[in-house]
Order: sequence, then structure tokens, then C-alpha cells
Amino acid sequence: MRRLLILGATGSIGRSTLEVAALHADEIEVHTLTAFRDAGGMLELCRRFAPKRVVLVEESAATLLRKALAAEHSHCEVLSGVEALNEVAGSSDTDVVMSAIVGAAGLLPTLAAVRAGKQLLIANKEPLVMAGRLLMREAAANGACILPIDSEHNAIFQCLPPAYRCGDAPKGVRKLLLTASGGPFREWSRERIDAATPQEAVKHPNWSMGQKISVDSATLMNKGLELIEASVLYQVGDDQLDVVVHPESIIHSLVEYVDGSMLAQLGQPDMRVPIAHALAWPQRWESGVGGLDLAAVGRFRFETPDLNRFPCLGLARAALREGQNAPNLLNAANEVAVSAFLDGRLGFYDLSSMIEACIDAGLQTHRAAADDLESILAIDAWARRWCAGRLSTQEPLVNA
Ligand code: NAD
Ligand code: MG
Repeated sequence: MRRLLILGATGSIGRSTLEVAALHADEIEVHTLTAFRDAGGMLELCRRFAPKRVVLVEESAATLLRKALAAEHSHCEVLSGVEALNEVAGSSDTDVVMSAIVGAAGLLPTLAAVRAGKQLLIANKEPLVMAGRLLMREAAANGACILPIDSEHNAIFQCLPPAYRCGDAPKGVRKLLLTASGGPFREWSRERIDAATPQEAVKHPNWSMGQKISVDSATLMNKGLELIEASVLYQVGDDQLDVVVHPESIIHSLVEYVDGSMLAQLGQPDMRVPIAHALAWPQRWESGVGGLDLAAVGRFRFETPDLNRFPCLGLARAALREGQNAPNLLNAANEVAVSAFLDGRLGFYDLSSMIEACIDAGLQTHRAAADDLESILAIDAWARRWCAGRLSTQEPLVNA
């Protein structure tokens, strides 16, 4: 019996992970669940999955949950605070860790799991973007096995030879080709996108996801973060990575080999598929998702991404090429920009302008590449302060 810890259990990936784990209760035990402050959501999960331990980062939420569980005579231990989160992430009483917190907040617990040599299923892409070298170095040093959950990276992993492990450079590969749905604005003009509201941005055509990644999918920053994520997991450079828009979201990514063969992974756009793959690896498990009716799908379309309407993808590619601190600056500025966009404080194209300006300023200020945790966190904090300063001097949006 393997014991499972989910970082970000109340989120979209967290809940899908629990659905898959529930199908295999005789092989995997839901041991520890963590979330930020959703006491009600966590109470529901406790009733259904009976974890041994829960962490809610916010103390007041943890207090509420403790009371509710005590009233139900539950023996579940409830902890709170960031220290508790990082501690349980590395604790020896679990074997498999699903990293599914959103944003840079997942870096420290993910790092703790890596340092403890866990089997790490990683959905939380932002830590890989901000601190990829550090995480892969620590994984190698501590024997942590990393399995990608992001559907594109999981597809690539499935298309690589069975002996392949993340962190190695794959042999005989010409290119990794990431597919992109194109997001909700794929067919919109630049003028129409310019006036897009947060409600329109989070309406993804094919996937149901958390708010931040939904906005990232609308700007195509998600694909940009994924390029950097792929370069970290698969140790390839910008010249071996490409993006193709595939609106059906059925082909989740492809590997092109030097002999001209291209291998692809196909499936319904449902995150339970990559989650089941990684939970069962190297075996195969039922995920609760059916196969594809290819005749009903009918046809696959492919398009080149339009960097004029979606400048975030170009910014991310430039950051990948630049290396050094650029991806970390890009990620931090994007997190601030997305939250300002959701609050109606930034328009769609203000997002990319602010990110670009922050990277330019950041590269001037931080010339030496940060490789240790402290310097990485310092640059992340610097970029957030820089963006907050810029936002504070900005006129509020008329249509906000
Ligand atoms: P979500 O917003 O639905 O859930 C986020 C989870 O993280 C919640 O449980 C929340 O309580 C927790 N959390 C948020 N802030 C926290 C903090 N400061 N400290 C501790 N916990 C915190 O997000 P999601 O859509 O499930 O995405 C999670 C991660 O997986 C993201 O990095 C996303 O890019 C990646 N991902 C998601 C999908 C998807 O289909 N949803 C697909 C691929 C990759
Ligand atoms: Mg993805």
C-alpha cells in the first residue's frame, strides 16, 4: 500500500487525483491532504476520503475545520501554517506526493518533497519555471522520481522510451512538440481580445481548470510556461521545442525522433488520464475516463500560434532563450499580472506589457544567475514588488 499526499487537494487537479485514487483504494491510501483556506471544501474531502492528516495554511480555516471534525468524532489531525505544510511535504510517512498547489507558493513544499526523495507527481509548473535547475539538481541528489502531470509533458513522457527518466536528455530526439488548444480567444481579433473581460478569459473551450491557469491559457502564457517546464524536465534547449495549436485538444503532445518518426499521445481532454498514468507508473490503471471515438472526432486541425495576438508566448520563449533569471522574473510578474487582470485592474494586453517591462528591469538589476533557493526567492520577491509599484501608479481601468 502506497501512501499519498496531495498538495492543493481542494483544487481542480487535487480533486481529480482523489477521484482516481478512490478507484484504487486497495493500492493507494489517501494519507495527507493540504489546501490554503477552504475549510468547507476540505471538510467534504475528509468525509469522503478519511485522510489521517490535513494541513490548512490559514489558521482560522484550520480552527473551523478542527471544530467541525471534532463534532463528527473524526481522528484526523489538522495542522496549520506554512511551516507545517513544508514539514508534511517532506515527512517520511508518505510515499507519493502530488504537487498541485497553484503558483510559486508550491515551491517550498515541492522542494521539501524532492529533498525527501519522494515519488513526485508534478502538476504545479510554476516552481519548475522559477527554480528548475535547483529542483532537478535536488531530485537527482536525493533520488526523487519526477513524473509529469501537465498533459503535454505527460504525453511527451509517454512517447519517450520506457527506460527514460525526467532530468535525463532523451536520446535520438529531434524535437518535442507541445500542442496548445489556442484558448478561448483563438479566433478573436486583437481588438476584441483587447477588451476581453476576466469572465471571458476563464471560459476555456476544452478543459475545466483553476482560475490562474485558465487566464494563462487565454494569454498563451500557459504554453510559454510549458515550454520552459519542458526544457527543465527533458533537458532540451529552445531549438528543440515547438508549439502547434491543435484546437481539438485530443493530441496532447508529440515527440519527433531523428529518423523522422513522430509519436503522439491521444486521449480525451481530462486530467484524470495523465494523473492515472503517473499514479500507476510503470503499470497502467483505470482512470475513470473512456477512450476516444475517432470517427466522432472526425478531423484534427493544426495551426501556427499567432505571437502578435498572443505576445505572452513570445515573451516566454525569449525568457527561455535568455535563461539566467528571466524565467523566474517572467513567472513572478505573470502571477501578479494575472491576479490584477482578474481583479479588473489590468486589461488583457497590459498583462504582457507589464511582464516584459519587469523582465527588462529585472535583468538589469539581477545580472548573476540565481541558483540557490535564497537568491531565487529574492528575485521572485523583487519582481512582485516591482509590479506592485507599477500597478500603484496606474489609472484604474474604465471598464473595470
Ligand atoms: P486550483 O486553483 O484549482 O487549486 C489550487 C490548490 O492550491 C487549492 O487546493 C488551493 O487551496 C491551493 N493553494 C492555493 N494557494 C496556496 C498557497 N498559497 N499555499 C498553499 N496552498 C495553496 O488550481 P489547479 O487548476 O488545480 O492547478 C494547480 C497547478 O496545476 C497549477 O500550477 C496549474 O498550472 C497546474 N495544472 C493544472 C491543470 C488543470 O487542468 N487544472 C492542468 C495542468 C497543470
Ligand atoms: Mg498543460
